[in-house]
Amino acid sequence: MITHNGENYITRREAAKLLGVSASSVTNLIKRGHVNSYYLLNKKLKGLLKEGEILQLDKTLIEKRQYRSGDNKKCSCCSEIKLTKEFIHSHKSGSLKPDCKSCRNKKYRANKDDPEFILNRRVSKFQRKAKYTNKITIEDVYNKFGRNPICYLTGQIMDFNDPNSYSLDHFIPISKGGDGDLNNMRITPPIINAMKTSILYEDFLIYCQTIVNYKKNQ
Ligand SMILES: [Zn+2]
Repeated sequence: MITHNGENYITRREAAKLLGVSASSVTNLIKRGHVNSYYLLNKKLKGLLKEGEILQLDKTLIEKRQYRSGDNKKCSCCSEIKLTKEFIHSHKSGSLKPDCKSCRNKKYRANKDDPEFILNRRVSKFQRKAKYTNKITIEDVYNKFGRNPICYLTGQIMDFNDPNSYSLDHFIPISKGGDGDLNNMRITPPIINAMKTSILYEDFLIYCQTIVNYKKNQ
């Protein structure tokens, strides 16, 4: 146990001992976001948990064991009564999804070539990766960008009916504090998004300019 600024911290190993699981199980729970964060006090003392978060982990473990037990649940889609292990466990809310794995897979296979389905999934992913206040619908996206969005960096015209032509870009990167709301969304071709990665807009322009200038003078 380490005390810092009046808070008690414990190591993963200590947490594992208290919970009666292996240290790697604790690592997995941390990776999946079951505790708020993973504390770095200084370079030597890394990988610490707040002592109070043990309670949160314990609750999660009890829930997980329940899901693995023989409990039944009715699927909202096929209406069959199935074992809870036939349902996906949402890491964020801690509850089970209403439709069973096999219904979800069927739905995915039936829709995987539908451009609107793909856009919807991409919008969900865009939001899931960052913090956001308002849920974005694909209608919001069409209203803002039209059906043929223009890349704000290259001027290239894309097509929401062709999933290979576009990608959703966080204008302010998540790592720089950007959120998952509509005003932080831009549409770019996938290659441009890959080039920009987590660089700020202004810095990206400078990098591009530097490359062009250097090549011009060679
Ligand atoms: Zn089902």
